[in-house]
Amino acid sequence: MPRFRSLPLLFVCLLLVGLSGFSAYRIGQRLGIADLQATGLHRLDLYATSLEREIGKYAFLPGTLSLAPEVIDLLASGGDGARVNAYLEKLNERAGTLSIYVMDTQGKVLATSNWRRPDSFLGEDLSFRPYFREALENGNGRFFGIGTTRGEPGYYLASALTGDNGTLGVAVIKVSLEQLEKSWTTVEAPVLVADENGVVILSAVSGWKFTTLRPLDEATRAAFDHTQQYNRRALQPLGIKPLADYDHGARVVRIAASGPETVSVYPVTGRFLEQSRTLPGTPWTLTVLSHLEQVDSLAQSRAALAAIAAACLCLLGIILNERRRHLRDRLAAREALQQAHDELERKVEERTADLSAANRQLQDEIGERIRAERTLRAAQDELVQAGKLAVIGQLSTGIAHELNQPLAALRTLSANAERFLERGDVDTTRTNLGRIADLVDRMGRITGQLRNFARKSSGQSAPVALCHAVDNALALLDARLRRASAEVARSCPVDEPVALCDANRLEQVLVNLIGNALDAMAGQPRPCIDLAWECADGRVRLHVRDHGPGLSAEAQAHLFEPFFTTKPAGDGLGLGLTISAGIVRDFGGSLHGANHPDGGAVFTLELPLAPTP
Ligand code: ADP
Repeated sequence: MPRFRSLPLLFVCLLLVGLSGFSAYRIGQRLGIADLQATGLHRLDLYATSLEREIGKYAFLPGTLSLAPEVIDLLASGGDGARVNAYLEKLNERAGTLSIYVMDTQGKVLATSNWRRPDSFLGEDLSFRPYFREALENGNGRFFGIGTTRGEPGYYLASALTGDNGTLGVAVIKVSLEQLEKSWTTVEAPVLVADENGVVILSAVSGWKFTTLRPLDEATRAAFDHTQQYNRRALQPLGIKPLADYDHGARVVRIAASGPETVSVYPVTGRFLEQSRTLPGTPWTLTVLSHLEQVDSLAQSRAALAAIAAACLCLLGIILNERRRHLRDRLAAREALQQAHDELERKVEERTADLSAANRQLQDEIGERIRAERTLRAAQDELVQAGKLAVIGQLSTGIAHELNQPLAALRTLSANAERFLERGDVDTTRTNLGRIADLVDRMGRITGQLRNFARKSSGQSAPVALCHAVDNALALLDARLRRASAEVARSCPVDEPVALCDANRLEQVLVNLIGNALDAMAGQPRPCIDLAWECADGRVRLHVRDHGPGLSAEAQAHLFEPFFTTKPAGDGLGLGLTISAGIVRDFGGSLHGANHPDGGAVFTLELPLAPTP
């Protein structure tokens, strides 16, 4: 069910429904009344024809009495009245009229069909009756009235009877219209006939008879008393209240209920369509009253249908409107989404452009760094080389001493070999030559190690057996160790660890650490260096411990700073630990120096283990 967005829309819909219902009601009513009008006209014709026929049947009858000789005789010369009475009695019987009588020119009844009855008006003067005067004046007279003697309503038809000497009298017949009235009671709509005074003289509804359609003034009522037309009936008004006028004199009227309602086949109170016409040859008016009950109910049904249809249309309109609105909202939401999407894309593009710029900047910076690092590395390499040369310089005294000894021995042995050769002592000469060869080998090893140490390393990491590197370092320091009578205690695990680094540089670090340890223990009678290592978490840790004085607070604070040294000038450059720390860092390792709880300094070198094949 669509939701009403606004009260005005609901109001408009209600207004539309109401207007449609009202219009349909009015149109339905107009159409219904038009239909009813057509039917009413038809009925008017029908009833008028039937009434004319009923009256016309007897119109000629009074005039024919002039053909009866006894009647003329009675009027002209006072003939046999009894004979005429008998004649009129028979004629009345045959014709089915109420009464037939003959009057002289003075209005006195000379003969009548009802002469036998006690209430017979034989001999009565009826000159006051209008039909008598009309007949004398015009030849014919018509009159509806109530009988003066019996009070029976009837229609009087009078004709002047003429003889050779002019008018002799007047013949009158009184006919009853009761049968016709009765036949009207079975038709669909009430019908009534009002006379020239507006008094209802014939009516399908018995209660309406002798009521007035319009108010009567006192003079008229007095005239009625004189003619005794209505035999002193009360003549109450029917109470027709006009509501609206339509074409051809039709009008809608309301008849209010007056007293107990007469039993009838059709409703006799309420709203009616009133249609009238005058009856030709009479001053009477025939009126048909068609009840509007059916027209009203039909118009109400049409109004209800129209209201329902309008409500359906409104509902359809509202649904369509809601749907259109929903679609529009969806479209707007989609557009908003698209806009947000476009905005987002624009921002992303902006950011991407920013990022690209930042990236380029970063790449430039990285390039700068790389270049700086290369420069640094080159400088570091230079430094390493310088460090090496410094170490070599440091070692040079020892090396010179190491080489001097074998050289002196070589000189002595070669001199001795010469003498032994001269003496012919070949065996001793051979022995001397063998010793010379050993000494040369030893010297070759020393210089080979020095060459290895001084060689520029490749800088590439490769698996290096740690024990082997330690052996090489100790071999390099062999002369110093022996001179200081130092002892090296090694505690190695069963599996030799293989570190990922550069063998040459590692040896340089080890030489530096062991050299520092020897320096720290200078002057001790039996200096001792402990070398121990352990492997854990893919890394190997080598501890180089001495039993010297340990690291001073100042030394701990500046240990790895370049050119920090506590050694006398010429002995130390203060570059050893700085270079060593740089080398180890390049391998992805670390170097720490600390004091051992039991005295002396301990340096820990940590390196990544090479992956096992
Ligand atoms: P150098 O040996 O040329 O002085 P190093 O960088 O190798 O340069 O050492 C810097 C300083 O650290 C040394 O002068 C010394 O004071 C201190 N040091 C190094 N090793 C030890 C050690 N094993 N015991 C005590 N002090 C040490």
